[in-house]
Amino acid sequence: MNFSQELRSLAEQIEVCKRCDLYKSTTHSVPGEGNLKAKIVFVGEAPGFHEDKQGKPFVGNAGKLLNSLLAKVGLDREDVFITNVIKHRPPENRDPLPNEIIACKHWLDKQLAFLSPKVIVTLGRWSLNYFLPVKKISQVHGVPLRINNNILLPMYHPAAAFRKGQVARALEEDFGKNKRIFQDPDSALNLGEDQDEGGQQRLF
Ligand code: URA
Repeated sequence: MNFSQELRSLAEQIEVCKRCDLYKSTTHSVPGEGNLKAKIVFVGEAPGFHEDKQGKPFVGNAGKLLNSLLAKVGLDREDVFITNVIKHRPPENRDPLPNEIIACKHWLDKQLAFLSPKVIVTLGRWSLNYFLPVKKISQVHGVPLRINNNILLPMYHPAAAFRKGQVARALEEDFGKNKRIFQDPDSALNLGEDQDEGGQQRLF
């Protein structure tokens, strides 16, 4: 199987996934979509109402905001890959449960292994804590961090921007100040480094 067949096969396996019970209340799985050669992968939390109906990630209001943030840094959706920690919509958009995150880890880990991105942009705390369980989004949003050979760029979730003006402003600023990384993901690996109080390597 070539690379795109592998990812398509993964999406087909996700469509029939019964590793947890979420599939029971959904219309479609939302495996993720985008450029298979992308150096930047966005990881959100879980599909919402519109994503469940269409089987595509970030197609509702949060998706519209994400599209405009991408445009602000000179990108569009075809330049990146977009997926979520959870591939089936939790009922009423409730927070994912620990067993659901563990069950779905199987898929996200495989997708990331296939795509092998330089930069992983996490959207919201569930996605940040998937990679760095003890970090707080309020403390690290907009700060590029090194994990293994990747850059992790934690961002607030676009949906949170609709609830709080302060988050909306921070989100826009965080995208703007990381434009260099969005434009040239390879160069991000040459950024300077220091460590935060938890020993995490921050880039600047
Ligand atoms: N929120 C998410 O976290 N993911 C989506 O795909 C849509 C909304």
